[in-house]
Amino acid sequence: MRNAVLAARELLENLTPLKTDCGRLCQGACCRGDENTGMLLFPGEEALYKDCPFARVVETDFSLGAAPALLLVCEGSCDRKNRPLACRLFPLFLRFREDQPPVLRMDARARAVCPLTDYGLKALDPEFRQAARRAYELLLEDEACAAYLRALDEAFTL
Ligand code: SF4
Ligand code: SF4
Repeated sequence: MRNAVLAARELLENLTPLKTDCGRLCQGACCRGDENTGMLLFPGEEALYKDCPFARVVETDFSLGAAPALLLVCEGSCDRKNRPLACRLFPLFLRFREDQPPVLRMDARARAVCPLTDYGLKALDPEFRQAARRAYELLLEDEACAAYLRALDEAFTL
């Protein structure tokens, strides 16, 4: 398990996009997938879900960075202390730019489910944004995580 992923998870352990429960706005839309919908796991994160009671790890047929992409498919509820990093960062995304540092954005893929995406980054709790920025900084210091984030940006840039 990579230290950067653990540290990033820790930073977002107790923070959520709003100070209040944003799930009330949408009845927890981002947790209501089906058995084919999942959250992408960061490099090495699958080790935390070997015997997970609320979710299973599913292989995909594509790669992100050097490794095949893995999804965590959950049952729609979880032990929040063990939710994956992608859930902790949602609805944020790291966008890479030429000759400039990467920048935090709302995840375009979240638009279909998350009402917060209509209001922009400024609507989110500043503490959450700050923790997410720091989490991404830590991830970028890790070679495999940085490659994963770049590949994710390339794969999902619209
Ligand atoms: S979809 Fe957006 S508003 Fe709804 S629970 Fe998830 S992050 Fe919060
Ligand atoms: S793992 Fe938890 S936070 Fe993530 S989608 Fe499933 S229920 Fe929601």
